[in-house]
Amino acid sequence: MRMHAEADREHDTATPAAPAPPVRKFRAEDAGYRWDAVPLKAYKPAGTHFQDITRQTLFGEAEELSSELRYFEVGPGGHSTLERHEHVHAVLILQGRGRVMVGEAVHAIEPFDLVHVPPQTWHQFRADADAPLGFLCLVACDRDRPHRPDADEAEALRRSPHVGDFVRL
Ligand code: MN
Repeated sequence: MRMHAEADREHDTATPAAPAPPVRKFRAEDAGYRWDAVPLKAYKPAGTHFQDITRQTLFGEAEELSSELRYFEVGPGGHSTLERHEHVHAVLILQGRGRVMVGEAVHAIEPFDLVHVPPQTWHQFRADADAPLGFLCLVACDRDRPHRPDADEAEALRRSPHVGDFVRL
């Protein structure tokens, strides 16, 4: 999966592609879920505070929407960035199992569960060790940048009796 992400990253800065066709067929591959004409991108390529994630934008500004529907796949044992921001996430789990921290609680998640992340709420997704965790995530196109924990916030999260053992900073 990571090899695909590396190969496709070059396309990120290419000239915009022609409008996607109205129907783009789903392909379940060994390397993960894919759709025709949807580039596979590395999640936040510059970061070091996440592990083994790919992102595919399924719908968004190219379809004249004010929201984006993305598909993320977290590799086995991987996790997303721990962050908070003003914009909200609406998530539908599609494959795999794992856990998600939303605020001061950690929840088990499995296919077809829904997760809502309210504004300014710390959140982090983690895949179980034995399979990737794949989910759809709906966000506004016009959104603020995520905030990562500063030193004091990281210490408070580590000390939390509810999420201290879960967080990966
Ligand atoms: Mn987020």
